[in-house]
Amino acid sequence: MLIVMKPQASEEDVRRVCEKIASMGFRAHPMPGAQRTAVGITGNPGALDPEEFETLPGVAEAIRVSKPFKLVSREVKAEDSVIRIGPPGSDVTVGGRELALIAGPCAIENRQQARAAAAAVRKAGARMFRGGAFKPRTSPYSFQGMGEEGLEILAGIRSEFGLLIVTETIDPENCDLVEKYVDVLQVGARNMQNFSLLKRVGRSRLPVLLKRGMSATLDEFLMAAEYILSEGNYNVILCERGVRTFADHTRNTLDLSVIPAVKALSHLPIIVDPSHGTGKRDKVIPLARAAVAVGADGLIVEVHPDPDRAASDGYQSLFPQQFETLVEQASAIAGVLGRTIALDPGASVSSAAVAEKI
Ligand code: PEP
Ligand code: MN
Repeated sequence: MLIVMKPQASEEDVRRVCEKIASMGFRAHPMPGAQRTAVGITGNPGALDPEEFETLPGVAEAIRVSKPFKLVSREVKAEDSVIRIGPPGSDVTVGGRELALIAGPCAIENRQQARAAAAAVRKAGARMFRGGAFKPRTSPYSFQGMGEEGLEILAGIRSEFGLLIVTETIDPENCDLVEKYVDVLQVGARNMQNFSLLKRVGRSRLPVLLKRGMSATLDEFLMAAEYILSEGNYNVILCERGVRTFADHTRNTLDLSVIPAVKALSHLPIIVDPSHGTGKRDKVIPLARAAVAVGADGLIVEVHPDPDRAASDGYQSLFPQQFETLVEQASAIAGVLGRTIALDPGASVSSAAVAEKI
């Protein structure tokens, strides 16, 4: 059930509604919107009586939510969510008119490699840096990541380059460690339905980047996000990273049609990973262009200073120069749609220069 408050409802009115929900043994989720606040209810085993709430001061109406997912749904929040990243005062966001750009190597391999990658992606304008310290690999014999040492390197990148850090957390205990070092917790495709991890990141104060499982339907994807919101963390960024099909000219099939489908159903931002989505370097730039054209809220791209020697995913990692080309072309396409890519002010690619070209 969703309690829709009147536009003029006071904070006190919202608090009273939340208290009433708590006294019934359920959980209240106040969602402030541009026009009015809505309060979602979770934890109720069956339908509730709207009259219980409609008599409270400040309540406009109590409505039944028709979708299986509640808190991620546009029925609960009509406007697009804009997720703030980083410490208080940071102006980095995901969602809204500006597209976010996250880039870096698949895995942190050593300090020198991480610094070279950070310098390259920052030069091209990225404001967020990606890199795995814990890698859930298909084979137990493949490189598993540097662990806590990798997190320390990432923290160093944050202070030296001013880039905000996105990295993967692989299980609930691991999350205790990872959240001490980074700005965004990534839940990988293989963990999209690791429900104890989803609940754990749902209790974190950090935003979560949730990657779509490689065979997840749209409903399963949104339900995974619902797990995180239901624990009280509303800062979720969805990520399309390709799904498993019969096609063998790519590693995965990047399902760009999911972007408008998500936008119709949910207020959460969705970004695209054209690196894992194709698995092939020569297809990353074309699919990044297409992702922007279809309405993605940002891109997460693997970039390595020396892809041929990368410990993981080298064949899909861009050379730094290629990443600059990607940023230029993606910015031009964003411009056609009346959007911009949020670039670092010192970037070699400037939005103004791109705007002049088109
Ligand atoms: C990654 O981002 O390096 C990664 C492992 O991604 P995915 O979970 O999408 O495979
Ligand atoms: Mn990778």
